[in-house]
Amino acid sequence: MTGLRTATGICLAGFFSIAILPSPAPSGELRLDGPLVQGGLVIGKTLPGARVAIDGRAARVSEKGIFLIGFGRDAGPKATIHIQYPDGGEARKTVKIKKRTFKVQRINGLPSRKVTPKPEDLARIKRDNAGIAGVRRLDTPAAGFASGFQWPVAGPVSGVFGSQRILNGKPKSPHNGVDVAAPRGTTVTAAAAGTVALTHPDMFYTGKTVMIDHGHGLSSVYVHMDKILVRKGQRVHKGAPIGVVGKTGRTTGPHLHWGVSLFNVHLDPALLAGPMPDSAPRKGG
Ligand SMILES: [Zn+2]
Repeated sequence: MTGLRTATGICLAGFFSIAILPSPAPSGELRLDGPLVQGGLVIGKTLPGARVAIDGRAARVSEKGIFLIGFGRDAGPKATIHIQYPDGGEARKTVKIKKRTFKVQRINGLPSRKVTPKPEDLARIKRDNAGIAGVRRLDTPAAGFASGFQWPVAGPVSGVFGSQRILNGKPKSPHNGVDVAAPRGTTVTAAAAGTVALTHPDMFYTGKTVMIDHGHGLSSVYVHMDKILVRKGQRVHKGAPIGVVGKTGRTTGPHLHWGVSLFNVHLDPALLAGPMPDSAPRKGG
């Protein structure tokens, strides 16, 4: 009999510990969706009201407990996610970030003024960069990213994320987006839902430029366009026309440069959009 009572007691204690004690953070309270790889975006889900920091840096957590983690080109080899639950419990999870090998791409024949800007161009470049940086500082509660991402234009990928470009023999910053070759005039669409945060008719490097805020610090940029079809402040759904392909700014021919960033961390758009659809030309107005 004694033995039975003891067994019953242990069993009850077990039940009570689940019901009453502060959360010991069971693994069900942290879910990570997305590739743990350089250039990858991961959508995390935890309890509403939890606080999240990635490598010590706080991330916005939505009312539904959603947060974003972005791994840059040179991220790794690991990152630590620290979660404080609303009931005082906490959890720490360290993830491994897969390393990638990036290409080296040489481009010659660019007009030298576009490779090494003249002093008189520098003020303009500084203004352009300040506008872009302003969008990359936004941290809105919107969740446009939840729509998922698609390619803003279909066509052959002529430049991949992370490649080191050597322009006219001079090593430049790694390519921070993807280039899709498409005929001038092809419609460019929003890669995900969001709000137009910037339009510019003529940036020095990027020409006609549109940026969309997808919320939580995630933004996308569409570059070298021939025409812009949206206004700043306009809300767009995934697939909404925002411009047409062109060759404005620093480019060797008509294509769309598409970039996605989580604040200042550039991500690989190709990882978000998945396989390229058939490139039936879509002519825009
Ligand atoms: Zn590009």
